[in-house]
Amino acid sequence: MNAITPIPSYLSEEHLGPWETYLAQIAEVAPHLAPELRPWIGTLTAPKRSLIVDVPVRRDDGTIIHFEGYRVQHSLSRGPGKGGIRFHPQVTLPEVMALAAWMSVKNAVVNVPFGGAKGGIRVDPKTLSLPELERLTRRYASEINILVGEEKDIPAPDVNTNEQVMAWFMDTYSVNQGKTVTGVVTGKPVMMGGSLGRRDATGRGVFVTTLEALKKQGRTLEGARVAVQGFGNVGEAAARLMAGAGAKIVALQDETGTIINPSGLDLAAVRAHREASRTLFGAPNCEARAAEDFWSIDCDILVVAALENQITEANAGKIKARLVVEGANGPTTPTADAILAERGVLVIPDVLANAGGVTVSYFEWVQDISAFFWSEEEINARLDRIMREAFASVWGLSETRGISLRTASFLLGCERILHARKLRGLYP
Ligand code: NAD
Repeated sequence: MNAITPIPSYLSEEHLGPWETYLAQIAEVAPHLAPELRPWIGTLTAPKRSLIVDVPVRRDDGTIIHFEGYRVQHSLSRGPGKGGIRFHPQVTLPEVMALAAWMSVKNAVVNVPFGGAKGGIRVDPKTLSLPELERLTRRYASEINILVGEEKDIPAPDVNTNEQVMAWFMDTYSVNQGKTVTGVVTGKPVMMGGSLGRRDATGRGVFVTTLEALKKQGRTLEGARVAVQGFGNVGEAAARLMAGAGAKIVALQDETGTIINPSGLDLAAVRAHREASRTLFGAPNCEARAAEDFWSIDCDILVVAALENQITEANAGKIKARLVVEGANGPTTPTADAILAERGVLVIPDVLANAGGVTVSYFEWVQDISAFFWSEEEINARLDRIMREAFASVWGLSETRGISLRTASFLLGCERILHARKLRGLYP
C-alpha cells in the first residue's frame, strides 16, 4: 500500500511549511490519477535524495564562518534534475524539498525532459561582501559537485542568486572537471553560454499565462489594474511586460516596502529609484503603504512573485483581484487556496505560471550542449507556444474533470512523472 503521508490535523496553518503544502496538493490530486499509476504515488511524496552540506567561508577579516547548504533531487524519472539555487536566511531542508518537488511537477507540466531538483544555502547574502559571496558560491558548488553535472542535475538562479553566481558556479565545476562545461548551470550571462531571453523568461511566462486566463474570463490587459508582490527577476519582468501591453501597475511590494498609485506607477522611475537607494520608499509619484494594506488594494490582477506562504487564511478574504497569478513558488497556503476558490478568484498556479524560466533554461541547456545559439525572437516564440499549449492542456483538464487549475496542473504533471516511473520500473 502506498499511502500518502497525511497532514496531521493538529497542525494549524501557521505551522504548515512548504513541504506540507506540497503534500496537501498531492493528496488533492491523488483520487484523480489513473488507477494504474496510483501504486507509484509514493515516489512523489519523498525526495529521491537530499544532500546537506557544510559551507565554510573565509571572511574578508580572516575569520571563518559556516553556513548550511542543501541540494535535493526530488525525482529523476523524466531526466536530469533541474531547479534553482536560493540564498536566503530562511532556507531549510523541508523548504528545498518542496521547491524541488514543485520543479518535478512544473517540468512535467511544460513537458521539458527534466526531473525536479533545488538547492539553497541558509544565508543572508546582504551581510557578505562580493568576494565573500564568490567564495560561498564556489565552496557550495564544490560541496554539491557529487550530485550535479550537465547530464545529472543542472542548477539555475532563484531568490538572491543571479547570472554572476551562475558564472562562478560554472567556473568552479569546470575547473574541477578540467574542461569548460557551460551546460552545468543555466541562467548564465549571455557572454558565456547563457541564452538570450532567459533573464525575462519567468516573467514572460507569467505574462503569457495571464493573457490566456484573461481571454477565458472575457477580459484583456488593456487598462487592467495590476498589483505585484516582488520586484526582482520575476516580478519586475512580469510588471514591465504587462505595463507594455497596456496594464496599469497600481501597487508594488518588496521586502523594503509597499507603494501604490491608482493611476499606474512609472516603472522605469521606480526601478531607477530602487537601484539607487535600495528601497521602494521614496519612489516618485506614489504613496507608501503599510505592508498588510497590500492585500486589500483595489486591483483586477494580483501577481505574487516573492516567496512562499504569502497568501494565507489571514489575507485571502481581502484580495479584490479576480485573477491571482503565482510567479513565486508556493505563495498560497492550502487554506487560502480554498478561500480564493470559494470566492470565485481564478488562480494560475506556480507550476504553470512560472514555468517560463525553466522552459528557457531548457533552451539554454540544449544550446550549450549543441554549441549552437538561437535568436531571441526564436526563443520567445518557442516559449510563448509552450506556455500557451501548457495553459490550454491544464484548462482543458480543469474543465473536463471539474477541478481547479492547480489540481489540473498537478494531474497533468504527476501523471507524466508516474508514467515514466512505471515504464522504467523498479530496480532491482
Ligand atoms: P529575486 O531575488 O530576484 O526577487 C525576490 C523579490 O521578492 C525581491 O523583490 C524581494 O524584495 C521580494 N521579497 C522578498 N521577501 C519579501 C517579503 N517578505 N515581502 C515582499 N516581498 C519580498 O527572486 P526571483 O528570482 O524573482 O524569485 C521570486 C519567486 O519566483 C521565488 O518564489 C522563486 O522561487 C520564483 N521563481 C523564480 C524563477 C526565476 O527564474 N528566477 C523561476 C520560477 C520561479
